[in-house]
Amino acid sequence: MNHSSLQSKPLAGGHAIVTGAARGIGRAIAISLAEAGASVVVNYKSSAAAAEETVEACLRSGGQALAVQADVSRPEQAAQLVEAAVRRFGTPQILVNNAGIARTGLLIDTSVEAWDELIDANLKAPFLCTRAVLPHMIREQYGRIINLSSIWGITGGSCEVPYSAAKGGIISFTKALAKEVGPSGITVNCVAPGAVMTDMLSNLSAEDIARIADETPIGRIGTPDDIAHLVRFLTMPASSFITGQVISPNGGLVT
Ligand code: NAP
Repeated sequence: MNHSSLQSKPLAGGHAIVTGAARGIGRAIAISLAEAGASVVVNYKSSAAAAEETVEACLRSGGQALAVQADVSRPEQAAQLVEAAVRRFGTPQILVNNAGIARTGLLIDTSVEAWDELIDANLKAPFLCTRAVLPHMIREQYGRIINLSSIWGITGGSCEVPYSAAKGGIISFTKALAKEVGPSGITVNCVAPGAVMTDMLSNLSAEDIARIADETPIGRIGTPDDIAHLVRFLTMPASSFITGQVISPNGGLVT
């Protein structure tokens, strides 16, 4: 990456992989990084048409983009995603572990299969993608890894115990890995959003949404762009002194 690129395209020449980028927060992150000049690999699991729309949006911003199907909770598919990305755009400087799933329910009703599914998508997948990308970043002595956690990973959420455990785990993963790869010029940070208006909140009623907005000091639910703004900041070459941190864009709900 050309670190002295023009300010309008600070990621020009760079390459980013964003997992789960067909919809929601991942989509906004992919577009934001493309606008900053990065070539973006738009990973998806099942939303092929939406992934192509994200690619189109990235291309409209003048960048390059490629959709790659992979279930990133599966070791061989996570590895294939990174291989495809390297083949197309060369060494990735940026990995955003965004893909995730949420389920609500009492812990006593949680099956082992449901537990495994939550942990695999939210915690194992970031491990697999990070492990695949690190040899490339270490070779270049440069990298930006951003992991999506949640306020529930900080505070714990009732009826979301497996999700909270996975999102808490990714915070510790971030802190430990930041120490391990800092000497290689790689930063690792965690973004832990509050409620953000995406399909993930589709199980909430309009009243639930209004109540959360009411309880939030800023007075509204977050947007995918609110989160993408922070992720983009953390991917910048100039953000080199920020690592091992958990930053929570949540409108003041959790301080
Ligand atoms: P979303 O709208 O439900 O989108 C989730 C995305 O993750 C989808 O594009 C989905 O891909 C992808 N995905 C899930 N499992 C995958 C897998 N195994 N392999 C590849 N892709 C997979 O969710 P979102 O709200 O944008 O959430 C994005 C991230 O932010 C998640 O990690 C979530 O936990 C976190 N977060 C969200 C909120 C919120 O309120 N929305 C709050 C805090 C944290 P397909 O569509 O292709 O299946």
